[in-house]
Amino acid sequence: MVNVLNDKYTVNIEKQDSGKILGESVRLSAVTKAYNGLKALDNVDIDIEPGSFTVLLGPSGSGKTTLLKSIAGITKPDSGTISIGQRVVFDSKTWVPPEKRELSMVFQDFALWPHMTAVNNVAFALKRRKFPKETENKLSSEMMEKVGLLDHVNNYPDQLSGGEQQRVALARALVARVGVVLFDEPMSNLDTDRREVLRFEISTLIHEYGATAVYITHDQSEAFSLADKIAVLDKGKIQQYDTPENIYRWPNSAMIARFTGVSGELLIKGIYLDESTKTFKVDLDEKLNCKPINVSVDKDLPDGRLKLFIRPTALKIVQPTSLSTMTGIIVDVSYCGKGYEHAIKLGEGSLLTKIFSENKFNRNESVGIMVDSNGCLVLKDE
Ligand code: ADP
Repeated sequence: MVNVLNDKYTVNIEKQDSGKILGESVRLSAVTKAYNGLKALDNVDIDIEPGSFTVLLGPSGSGKTTLLKSIAGITKPDSGTISIGQRVVFDSKTWVPPEKRELSMVFQDFALWPHMTAVNNVAFALKRRKFPKETENKLSSEMMEKVGLLDHVNNYPDQLSGGEQQRVALARALVARVGVVLFDEPMSNLDTDRREVLRFEISTLIHEYGATAVYITHDQSEAFSLADKIAVLDKGKIQQYDTPENIYRWPNSAMIARFTGVSGELLIKGIYLDESTKTFKVDLDEKLNCKPINVSVDKDLPDGRLKLFIRPTALKIVQPTSLSTMTGIIVDVSYCGKGYEHAIKLGEGSLLTKIFSENKFNRNESVGIMVDSNGCLVLKDE
């Protein structure tokens, strides 16, 4: 083991020798932050497990950045409590500054020092830890290798592509072996092909190191592919904090269903429990010319006006026969690589979009639609 000056960092080096960091838990309780009377965070509670990957997903202005910056210590909330591991870093009597919170951050604009080489940018994260120079060099080179940039150690940031710069930023965030890594839309300045590769690298390295990750995106597919758990934010509140599977299958609200992708939403005329199958049967407006649709509901039906939300994955286009659940007319078709996405008009102007089929159906063609109850959601119309 390497000798260092301070007990805390001795522990970190031991962790590094075993290749694994101990991720810290992150807890927020009743955290509120208002700007000019408007709540950017409204009484937020969240309990993030050590070593887990949490994605903050939500529309622009929903409070994602304010939440991340509050954890980082860049923004000071008005009230509430924030803990990292066993340590309270913010409450009415406590304020731990960012540099003492033992976390690191990856920004969308990479935020590298332009006058330092790639490897020195990484090593800089170790400076205040006062490692011996050879340890600093060893750890920085190892991290450069991990992110596949050994050939670029002596390049300056302006001699690196956007994807390479972001990998340097990732190396810098991980090299100090802190328990929490925060990501502020790290892919938003990268081309699509580079995003795919970097997404894979971030996921692999974070899991390999065992750090707790909190990651902002407004890109649904990025959220679903990276997250152990997704926190959906809207209007400064966490609307749901759950696994990607549960968010997709059992969204709490119309907002979450819409934000995570629906083909369409249809007003429900009547809904009743089918005792034989223990599922609900939904009747839609007769003008839609649709058979009753079976749906499962995970809790009591919400009060008020109900809508049926249908996930794109639940719809299959078929030839119109008496077996199909609905019929409609193809109004749009677009090629999407491995097949076609269709838009279908039902009676009364209702529209279903994003319906995938390997086969192409043509505009104005009459088609049948089969509906899989697993992708049907009964939610309050909001
Ligand atoms: P998101 O990251 O989801 O886009 P933000 O946390 O940036 O959302 O913003 C949440 C709300 O707080 C928005 O209405 C935004 O305008 C407001 N806000 C954020 N930062 C500031 C600030 N420094 N001054 C004033 N209003 C702010």
